[in-house]
Amino acid sequence: MYFWLCQHIEPSKVHPMIRTRTLISLLVFAVSISLFAQEEFPKPGQMKPNMTEFWLPQPTVVTPGSADCDEPVPAPSDALVLFDGKDLSAWKSSREGEAKWIVSDGVFTVNKGTGDIETKAHFGDFQLHLEWKVPATITGKSQARGNSGVFLQGLYEVQVLDNYENKTYANGQATSIYKQTAPLVNAMKKPGEWNVYDIIYQAPTFKEDGTYRTYPYVTVIHNGILVQNHTRINGTTPYIGLPEVVEHGDGPIKLQDHGDPSEAISFRNIWIREL
Ligand code: MG
Repeated sequence: MYFWLCQHIEPSKVHPMIRTRTLISLLVFAVSISLFAQEEFPKPGQMKPNMTEFWLPQPTVVTPGSADCDEPVPAPSDALVLFDGKDLSAWKSSREGEAKWIVSDGVFTVNKGTGDIETKAHFGDFQLHLEWKVPATITGKSQARGNSGVFLQGLYEVQVLDNYENKTYANGQATSIYKQTAPLVNAMKKPGEWNVYDIIYQAPTFKEDGTYRTYPYVTVIHNGILVQNHTRINGTTPYIGLPEVVEHGDGPIKLQDHGDPSEAISFRNIWIREL
């Protein structure tokens, strides 16, 4: 590079001192670039979970204006009800057989260790409503505190987590697109109160080579507050590693059995409107 510069800069037109400084600066810049290019980035199998976590900025806490609702709001007339408080007939285990989560008093509760559950029906674009809460006596911290998740088309997780006065990485908070996009604000209700998610989802389309022609997009309203505003989903939402693009068609709504040691998460009033 030094020789190239010497050949392309006319010495007689530049003061010798300026010329020397310029050449040294360019040389340092070139060496820095070459060292940066040689740095090894981790291969997919070598990534650690914290490589895809970011903690700052933490979403601002916003107290929802609505009071805690003892009674769920009834579904619209054109909605497909996925859980009406009676049974899990619209759901199955993501492993095999019937959903083994526990139905009681109009809600169902994660049955730890029995695996995720998912809707028998598959969906493309939709508006989804669901409500969830953790016990008032919940313990644990960060990700081990009321962790579940809503997987859109079975692949893209909108996080469920008790983030009321519980700090965790921003892109792993409740309503985050897990390990991708933090919520705009933290709109959590207190433990023991119902949280409401309204999720508007636009399914992706694919090119012949299996990459996205159009990305999936999602809008999430948490307790009446916008937290994801037509957010682009970049691919799958793994715990370890980067998002991957997986070609797929319609898929189920899947709920996560995270298996963390804290007390269980309950759900109620789940309905969907296909768009
Ligand atoms: Mg989760």
